[in-house]
Amino acid sequence: MFPEAHETTIDGVPAFWTEIDESPQVTMTFGVGMRDEPPSLSGVTHLLEHLLFSSMEPSPLLANGATGPSVLRLTASGTPSELVDFVHAVTRAVRTLDALPGAEVDREKRVLEAETTDHYAQPACTLLAHRFGYAGIGKSSGGTVALPLLTLDDVVSWAGTHLTRDNLVLSFVGPPPEGIEIYLPSGVPAPRPVETDSVGVPTVVPSERHHLAFSIVTTPAMASHVACVLDHEILGDLRQRDGLIYSTDTYLTDIDEGRTALDVHLDPLPEQTIPALERLLAVLHRMRDDGVSREAVEYSLRSLRDASADRASCGHQLLRELAHSHVLGVPAHTPRAAAAMAQAVTPAAVTEALRGALGGLLIAVDDKQTVPETVTGPNGLAVRSLDLWIDSGAERPGPGAVRWRARRRGALPGFRLALDANCLWLSARGLEQRVPLDTLAFASHRGDGWIGLLDHDGRSAGIDMTDFRRGRDILDELAKRLPVGLVRATPHP
Ligand SMILES: [Zn+2]
Repeated sequence: MFPEAHETTIDGVPAFWTEIDESPQVTMTFGVGMRDEPPSLSGVTHLLEHLLFSSMEPSPLLANGATGPSVLRLTASGTPSELVDFVHAVTRAVRTLDALPGAEVDREKRVLEAETTDHYAQPACTLLAHRFGYAGIGKSSGGTVALPLLTLDDVVSWAGTHLTRDNLVLSFVGPPPEGIEIYLPSGVPAPRPVETDSVGVPTVVPSERHHLAFSIVTTPAMASHVACVLDHEILGDLRQRDGLIYSTDTYLTDIDEGRTALDVHLDPLPEQTIPALERLLAVLHRMRDDGVSREAVEYSLRSLRDASADRASCGHQLLRELAHSHVLGVPAHTPRAAAAMAQAVTPAAVTEALRGALGGLLIAVDDKQTVPETVTGPNGLAVRSLDLWIDSGAERPGPGAVRWRARRRGALPGFRLALDANCLWLSARGLEQRVPLDTLAFASHRGDGWIGLLDHDGRSAGIDMTDFRRGRDILDELAKRLPVGLVRATPHP
């Protein structure tokens, strides 16, 4: 029997609760996540989450926060009165954020940098950034480049816009306790822009972070079945038969009501990367051309049945889905609905979903490996460059460009840099390159001379201004030509 959900409102805020055999729990779900952050504020939601906890007095024992691509969740377990205290402590922390000492903000930024270095070194990262660009959902895989530059003012104003009573859903394990009041301002944040998928044909992209990974986009209803079937077939072939990989890791990310991104990371030995890629393509094409096997689909339905048998985890999933659907305005995929849909999960239906998705296949391959033409050609794979600098061809900087010459003793003797209204230009003997300014999503300077550049597709590059004479002007000149807010620098010491 699936747990039932009850719906109510608490001080005007929508709330859901369910009975499962666990101690009382409250979750506050705010409709804000990494995808909402402009590049110049990337990392601000996660920093906000940490600062809320560090400003709670006394800090709650069994409480936790999680910043995701689309929502911020704050959870606590305890007695009913402890749950009331927790909600009040969170809202008090939101209202008093601006009183936090600067040292606390700096401390949490260092904690976060340690946490996220780990996280962004993880397998399936960067695939979302390559597909959807860095400005939206791609940020959840592209890193938090602005984090070191964020200030308490940024966090306070971010909280003011997004941590409102109109952008909140409460959920409870057990009946909601009496006495909860929501002391938060009103306000509805701007709607999210539609995410644009830039992968129109099967594409391979070099990657600093993966041995081998791929991503497809399918429907939310079919995503977990497609994932299970892929797992079954890839492991059966690449691991059991050929010994090319040891495991697969799968990540599902909801993009919007019609699309879920499915990222799979494989772990071949470096020297096995290209053979593993070839086998992977053969398996995917076999499934596309001959259809997925009944055995693989039964494996998927069996995992669904096993998951449905765990009443407590179904209860948590139910609450999570209801909160997400309410705060994001998308349909809820509840465990009951998933079980009811199992009838429709046939080999033909999964094959159709997979066929539709493979046209937008994106594969990331360890950039230390060269994918030979004999693999890309016959498989119809386009190759995307990771280089932010592009060849200038016959073009040269326009009239009135600002120019810099490299210092003879720097790292780039003989190089010249120029900036006109449209591009940043780099040249040396035999090399003419440029970066169109309208491709840039963010430019930053942390005070060490290094200017970091990031484009809308998540490609990055950098220039050390100390390599150039009068190089301190480079960032100021860039700032004059780029949209406001796109250039961020730590204040000059
Ligand atoms: Zn954290």
